Amino acid sequence: MPTDNDGVMIVLSSPSGAGKTTLVNLLSKKENFEISISHTTRQPRANEIPDKDYYFVNEDKFNRLIKNGEFLEYAKVFNNYYGTTRTPVIDKLDKGKNVLFDIDWQGADQIKNKNLDYKLITFFILPPSKEVLFKRLSNRDMKDKLIAEERMKQFSRDVLHWINYDYVVINEDLEKCYSKIYNLIRAEIENGSKDYDPDYIRDHIEKLTS
Ligand code: 5GP
Repeated sequence: MPTDNDGVMIVLSSPSGAGKTTLVNLLSKKENFEISISHTTRQPRANEIPDKDYYFVNEDKFNRLIKNGEFLEYAKVFNNYYGTTRTPVIDKLDKGKNVLFDIDWQGADQIKNKNLDYKLITFFILPPSKEVLFKRLSNRDMKDKLIAEERMKQFSRDVLHWINYDYVVINEDLEKCYSKIYNLIRAEIENGSKDYDPDYIRDHIEKLTS
């Protein structure tokens, strides 16, 4: 049964390359914050630790989890499946932990539409410009520039989903972006005043999409 002492659900989504995973990891260092570990059918990257970064599973196992109704949300992203199982999340929330979700807009929509009894705060992280994003994507350990170009196309489609989030935050400076998100979470939990300028965000999105 949800109570006032329950944790809150904090969703961070972003187009690829906006720095969301780093932000989620930083936030998870705060007391009482924990990351929801997703399942995925994608292959692990060289620096990833199984059962910490993701539960890496094959499609059979993923389909079984779907069939058994274990997912709070799941989606196909870049040809792989990703999903959040319900039980670990609810357990954490019931223990008063704030749960961080590094998931895409499809997952964010599904969680929102579930209207759970837990407080939900959603953030959409954006890069400072398309030029910076392309640089970030190209510097990654990726097979070739074609993937970066493909993800730039994906960016133009993904960015349109900003409208469904509570807050849009621009990741120009990691520390500043992190503080902005953390302060907004605190303000939401404590009903405090929020340092947020929707007009500035609208202008930024117009620049990114023009
Ligand atoms: P990556 O493969 O780069 O780790 O993640 C690709 C995308 O999948 C990212 O946008 C990430 O946020 C999203 N993602 C990771 N886990 C989940 C999940 O459990 N559900 C959904 N819907 N998206 C996820």
